[in-house]
Parts: sequence; structure tokens; C-alpha cells
Amino acid sequence: MTELFGSRVFNEKAMRERLSAEDYKNFRTMVKEGKSMDPQLAQRVARAMMDWAIAQGATHYTHWFQPMNNVTAGKHDAFLNPNMDGTVEMKFSAKALIKGEPDASSFPSGGLRNTFEARGYTTWDPTSPAFVKDGTLYIPTAFCSYTGEALDTKTPLLRSMQALSKQGVRLLRMLGNTTCTQVTPTVGAEQEYFLIDRELFEKRLDLKVCGRTLVGARPPKGQELDDHYFGHIRLRVSAFMHDLDRELWSLGVSSKTKHNEVAPAQHELAPLFDTANIACDHNQLMMETMRVVAKRHKLACLLHEKPFAGVNGSGKHNNYSLLTDDGLNLLDPGENPLENKTFLIVLCAFITAVNSYGDLLRLSATTPGNDYRLGGSEAPPSIVSVFLGNRLSTILQEAAAGSWQDNSCPVYLRTGVDVLTDLERDDSDRNRTSPFAFTGNKFEFRMVGSSQSIAMANVVLNTALAEVFSRFADYLETCEDRDAGIQKLISDTMAHHGRVIFNGNNYAESWAQEAARRGLPIIHNAVEAIDRWTLDKNMELFDRHRVFTRVECFSRQEVMLEHYDKVMDIEATTLIEMMRRQVLPALYRYMGELSKDSQTLSAVGRGSKALDRNLDQLTQLTDTLEAETSALEGMMDQVMTKESARDHALYICKKVQPQMLKVRQACDAAELLVDEKAWPMPTYFDLMFRV
Ligand code: ADP
Ligand code: MG
Repeated sequence: MTELFGSRVFNEKAMRERLSAEDYKNFRTMVKEGKSMDPQLAQRVARAMMDWAIAQGATHYTHWFQPMNNVTAGKHDAFLNPNMDGTVEMKFSAKALIKGEPDASSFPSGGLRNTFEARGYTTWDPTSPAFVKDGTLYIPTAFCSYTGEALDTKTPLLRSMQALSKQGVRLLRMLGNTTCTQVTPTVGAEQEYFLIDRELFEKRLDLKVCGRTLVGARPPKGQELDDHYFGHIRLRVSAFMHDLDRELWSLGVSSKTKHNEVAPAQHELAPLFDTANIACDHNQLMMETMRVVAKRHKLACLLHEKPFAGVNGSGKHNNYSLLTDDGLNLLDPGENPLENKTFLIVLCAFITAVNSYGDLLRLSATTPGNDYRLGGSEAPPSIVSVFLGNRLSTILQEAAAGSWQDNSCPVYLRTGVDVLTDLERDDSDRNRTSPFAFTGNKFEFRMVGSSQSIAMANVVLNTALAEVFSRFADYLETCEDRDAGIQKLISDTMAHHGRVIFNGNNYAESWAQEAARRGLPIIHNAVEAIDRWTLDKNMELFDRHRVFTRVECFSRQEVMLEHYDKVMDIEATTLIEMMRRQVLPALYRYMGELSKDSQTLSAVGRGSKALDRNLDQLTQLTDTLEAETSALEGMMDQVMTKESARDHALYICKKVQPQMLKVRQACDAAELLVDEKAWPMPTYFDLMFRV
């Protein structure tokens, strides 16, 4: 394992082997200090990178980037350079390493390319290591327009990390730290996914086109017995996980934990945390590798947020903390949180950030698929609140009131068996229903969707924190008595932002009412969430910290709406196609058979009332299904006349989605009345239990 790990990555070890000691040192310093690369050095790094990649069997290189569609992209160029005599040599220049010019015109730009040049540029991100995959050297890059507008998810992520570090260092200075020069967000993204049999997957148009089932009657058994969660991993799945781990380890992705999740056929993979930027790249790599390895095992990996109705959906828990370059985890309370003023202030900054920009956090977890998951009984509700646990909440309240005493004492977990060790109970890690929970030395943001890039969630967190850090630092700069200033910050936080703290059950009906009473934003769907993006307070935030200009904000909003519209149009069209060309014809055929059977039986004096009743019921349901499908078709004609992406999206939300549900209800009811051999596609039971 130690040899395999990172064996396909141009990491520190590979660099030390291939660069002179001085070049290596200069390269590291430039990356750390964020300086642009000296051209001579860049040339030597490019050369070393190519030689290393060729030794790995690479023939091509690609500028690997992350456009605004939650997947990655890149074109592959051979290292080939022709000589005059008809032979070729392998070549890779510093320019080719640093800059690429893919044609941007087919990537989502939200109108940016109408106003500006269509050409896009990719620039090397030296903070995330290059790697070799399938004979190509992958170079992580940022993707921008001709005039520097971000067209991807990496550019704003890097901008936000820069802003956060700047304000974080300022705040730490005010809190007495003299050594730290950089604050870096660390992220561990737990990835949930489903695995189903490939052959069955191929038989479902909805899964192939939309990644989720659009119809399917409830199977007799789902997740009721809790027998899948952490349960025995089936051999086929285990073989998949084994291969996946090896593949990921060789790519330097530190896949650490694997287990079965709550829903049948659902699993989870958690890597070790890394810097937000690398974690984001690795998460993309993880999703891509999962899909490919699954195919090799004749399985299909479903990353959709809600592949099946009636059982849990999949999310991506974004574990987040802040690390300083002098080795401090800013969210580590230590033995005595009350003595750890830095921790308390950073904690207050999180509370303030989440309360002030909860709408943006909700938005950062918005995908068309996540609408089906958020608010479901298993997933975080769409109201953003913070879970701190009783001990920390009490400590903050006391500190806010000027009493710096920790009256809590450790609680022990006693099993009543002498031979078993009594464990100290971890107060912080109990609430699994909160969208934003403090879990010991980090926050876990649980809303993010399983198919999404984690970039936006971290862009929002970084920027919102940068803002609060800067306000706190501004304030402390004016204070003569630092301790009094800290005290005031804590009491102000509790007074003005404490409403966002909720330690109860977020699934409880009463929480929605309570949250409304507290004035917390309740955002029900993607369209409402996307609307919030361009509120003045949000655009000001991004503008102030140079993460997004106003132009970029508007364009990104357009991209989100267009994406939503396209995905939903595809879903509705797929549903119509499945009804018209698979389900309705199967029903007509089956009803034909039933009526023949009925005639045959009557002819011999054995007419069956049960059979006729079945036929009647099916006839009725088929009529309903056909009528609901027609209604959906009518709506799809309507929706195409909508001029703006937002009107389109609103119509989808208000009309098309409820209508799709009506079609589904009729279809699912019919499924339960039809001979399983006559049903034109694999059932929920087949999909979830036949791996
Ligand atoms: P659980 O399922 O109980 O939430 P997991 O072990 O599956 O826990 O996932 C926890 C994740 O949190 C891992 O990816 C881990 O690396 C990450 N993590 C731990 N410490 C930090 C930290 N300081 N910053 C960011 N992520 C962290
Ligand atoms: Mg986990």
C-alpha cells in the first residue's frame, strides 16, 4: 500500500527525484507564497513532469478543468513534436504546462461569452498535483474567459481560499498569534452512492438518461429493517470497493473508510481530509473512478441524490475545518475550550457566517436532484441551522454573560459490563439531523448533493468566514482591552446570530414552525434558492472579497437556472417516452391477453369475476395514465414557450413536477396489477436487491 499510494502522482517525492534540490525548493516556495512562476524554472518543471509522465506510460497531456456543470473536462494532446526529417520527438514546453486555450463556446457561461470572446483559457494550478491516468498526464487547471471571468468552479474556490487566508491571518494577529502566515480550509468529503447490476441498469431508460428512477412501485421491503446499514458487504460490492481503493490510492486519493449505507444498495466512501482545493479535485476524481470501476465489475454506480423514491437519498458530507501553517486546527476546542479564546472566536465566526449567509449555503447545495432529497426524512431539511451540542452551547452562553466557567463535567458511557471500558461520551457528535453540525474539531455540512462538485459549498463557507473574520478583526483593532473585545464579540454573536443554533431534532415537524418564528430563511426548492444568489447582500459579499464580480454572479445564476431547466426537461421527456413507448404498450398488450383469457373462460362456462375486476381496474388506470401523460405533454409544449430561464424553471416547479408525480402514481399503481413478466422494465426490488 505504501508503494502504491500516489504512484501515479507527480507529488513531492516524484519532484524531489526529478528536480534539482534548488529547483524543488524554489518551486515549493513559489507555490506556498502564491508567486507566479519564473519562466526558466517553469520550463524545467515541465520537462521533469513530462519525463516522469512518459516513464508512467503517458503519451498525452491534458489541461483538466471543472466547468460549471459538476463534471470535469479536458482535451488530450500528444507530447509529440515533428522533426524536419520526418521523425518525432516528445516535447512539452512551459507554455503548454501553464496555459491552454480550449474552445469555451460549448461550456455553460451564463451569457459571458455573448458579451466577451468565446475563447476560454486554462491556467495550471500548481497547488494541486498532476497525475497520470489512462496514458494521459492530467494537469489540474482553472478555466477563465478571455477577460478573466471565472468559467469554472476552481477559480472561485482558489479566490475564496485566498480571501479567507488573508482575513484569517488578520484576525489571528488580533488574537495574539504572531507566527501564522496562512489559514487553509481543510475538507473531507464523504461520498454516498448506489451500486446496481449493470444489465438491469441498461434496461431502464430513466436510469440511463436521468440517473434516477422516474417510476417504480414500492417494493415489499426497503430499508425498514435497518439491516443494510454497516452490514455485511456483499462479495461483488466488496470486489468493487477493493479495486476502487487501489485505483484511488494510486492516484493519491486517500480513500479511508467504506461501508454500507442505510438504503439497500447504498454505500459510502470517505477519504482523509485535505486542503479544500485538493479535496475538491479528488472528489471529482473519486466520482469518475467509481463510475468506471463499477462498469468493469458489471455494475452501475448511481451518484444521483435520489435514485429511488421511498428510501434514503445520497449526499456528500462536507467536513470542514481551518488549519494554520503553524499547525493549529482552529476548530479544535482543546481540553478547556474556555481558555481557548481563538477557538471561541472562530466558533462565533462560524455561527455568524451561517446565520448571515444560510441562504447561500442552501444554494450551494442546490442541484435539480437534491430537491428530491433535502427535507426528506433522512436528509437535512432545507432550513440551515447549526448544531453545537449542549456543552459548547452552554459555554458560549456563559461566556456571553461574562461568566467564564465551564461547569460541565465529562459524561461517561457505562455498559454495565465490568470487562468493557467505560467511554467518555462525546457530546458533540450525537445529532445526525442537523445540516451544519459541530463534530468535535470540525463542522460537517450535510446538505451537499452526492452528484455535485463540493466547490461551491466551500466557496460560500470560505467567503462568508472571510467576511466575518474581517469584521471581527476590524472590531478588535479598535479595542484597547482585547479580552473585553472578545467578550463583546461573543455576546454580540449570541444576541444577534444565536437564533441559528439548534440542538434539537431537525426532522421534527415543530422545527419548521420554530425556525419560521426565529426568522430563519426557509427555502423550499432550487428556484427559490437560485433567486437568493443575486440578493444585494450576497453579491456585495462576493464582490468585496473578489470571489465573484457582479457580472459573474448574474452569469452564474443564469447557468444554474439553465442547468435546472435542461435537467428537468430531459426528465419530463424521458418520462413521456417511457410511458408512450414502454408502459402504455405493455399495458395494452397485457389487457388484450386478459380479455382473451376472460373470453376463453366464459366460453367454457368459467367466467371469472376476479379477472374481469382486474381488467376493469387496469382499464381505468391505463386511461388515467394516458390522460396524465397527455397533460404532461401539453405542459412540455407550454414550457418551451417560456422566454426566460427563470420563468421556465418556475413553470417546471409549479406545474411540470407535480404532473410528473401524477403520471408516476398511475404508473406505479398499474405496475402492482400486472404480471411481472409483462412489465417492461426491472422493478425496484430487482434494482435494489439483485447485486
Ligand atoms: P462520520 O461518517 O462519522 O461523519 P467519517 O469518518 O465517515 O465520519 O468522515 C469524517 C470525515 O471528516 C473524513 O473525511 C475525515 O478525514 C474528515 N475530517 C477529520 N478531521 C477533519 C478536519 N480537521 N478538517 C476537515 N475534515 C476533517
Ligand atoms: Mg461517514
